[in-house]
Amino acid sequence: MTDRNKHLEDIDRKIIWHPFTQMKEYIEEKPLIIERGEGSYLIDINGKKYLDGVASLWVTTHGHRRLEIDEAIIAQVKKISHSTLLGISNVPAVELAEKLSKILPAGLEKVFYSDNGSTAVEISLKISFQYWKQKYPSLPPRTKFVCLNNGYHGDTLGAVSVGGIDLFHELYRPLIFQSYKAPSPYCYRCELGLSYPDCGIACADELEKIISADRENIAALILEPMVQGAGGMIVFPQGYLKKAREICTKNKILMITDEVAVGFGRTGKMFACEHENVAPDIMAMSKSITGGYLPLAVTATTPEIFSAFLGGYAEFKTFFHGHTYTGNPLACAAAIASLDIFEREKLIEKLQPKIDLFKSLLERFKKLQYAGDVRQLGMIAGIELVSDKKTKEPFPLEMKMGYRVIDIAREKGAILRPLGNVIVLMPPLSISESELAQLLDITFNSIKEVTE
Ligand SMILES: *Cc1c(COP(=O)(O)O)cnc(C)c1O
Repeated sequence: MTDRNKHLEDIDRKIIWHPFTQMKEYIEEKPLIIERGEGSYLIDINGKKYLDGVASLWVTTHGHRRLEIDEAIIAQVKKISHSTLLGISNVPAVELAEKLSKILPAGLEKVFYSDNGSTAVEISLKISFQYWKQKYPSLPPRTKFVCLNNGYHGDTLGAVSVGGIDLFHELYRPLIFQSYKAPSPYCYRCELGLSYPDCGIACADELEKIISADRENIAALILEPMVQGAGGMIVFPQGYLKKAREICTKNKILMITDEVAVGFGRTGKMFACEHENVAPDIMAMSKSITGGYLPLAVTATTPEIFSAFLGGYAEFKTFFHGHTYTGNPLACAAAIASLDIFEREKLIEKLQPKIDLFKSLLERFKKLQYAGDVRQLGMIAGIELVSDKKTKEPFPLEMKMGYRVIDIAREKGAILRPLGNVIVLMPPLSISESELAQLLDITFNSIKEVTE
């Protein structure tokens, strides 16, 4: 190993505190340090290539070093790299807003920029609260939100307040506001002990009960449409999302959909809510919006909500929220270039045969002795490992089955990241058919080696 590489590894272990990482274990192992990327591959400092099996945490869309995006960023650097959006504007922010307005679900005509998924969610929550307060000033403020068990909306405290993953969120309960939690539409482990479709989507009826019991105090329902990501790539039963929309409309509360993970083609549609023709009142987007190049987020909403924030300066109806790097021109330029690729390549349409291939390649995982559930929507899959398929008994988390699988996969040339006992596959949309087959082979063999 070269001196430089050894130095990088030493310093990484010595100074960097990695997110969602037990550092006591991390510093005892040899770190993996990425230096370059190329299409579906990541390349480490020693020159070893790995398939990027989780799109660098669910963001990479058209592959690494995609020429058009590289060039768009470079061209923008030569004009300006940052200028504020507070009270003034910039060219890429305007052009991206126009592009988004043409693809967003019906009614979403206003875009508020920020720079990561958690902030897009914070903004959604604050807009909801302030909307009701300013629209109906004589009524008591609506301070409640409804969210789902297994939901994940980010790590800042507002986002944690509407989070439903105890492992990440329970610890912070003393710091956060209380939300109503509705059952997760998680058919494999139905909280109501029912099975789809005979259940008639009873979890949606539970959601309705919770909402209708306190609707005057509830600002909004927030959920991840179609797939609960960090909760374990839990794919909704058909009809749930539509019912959730109907419940919100009927009970006159807002619906926030968090498309941070599922937006921009991941599920095989541009936005996941298109699967059920649902249009939310507020939609949060981030991760793939720049094709996975730069941090950027958007919270989109309706003219109706926007109008509640209009007034004379001294009425103080302004939305008092804004991040320093809001609407950053480089990030917006990357997002424009990414959306151009979607358009020019008719990407969503062309993706469909790849999704069919993905689905068929996942079939054989169902026969694995310890694969309890294999879930997939579009280019997202979750393989839930269990210690007993009949009883669905999970492997104890201490066994770190997910991590053991990804360690083997890494040796075999693929980078994955598990969610507890769920092995996640979310390759870049641009992955070739042969790379996809290879990724699934590596994953299959890694699971087999660990469990058998
Ligand atoms: C990743 C994620 C977030 C948080 O985004 P960050 O950019 O990590 O803050 C929010 N919601 C969902 C659904 C996500 O998957």
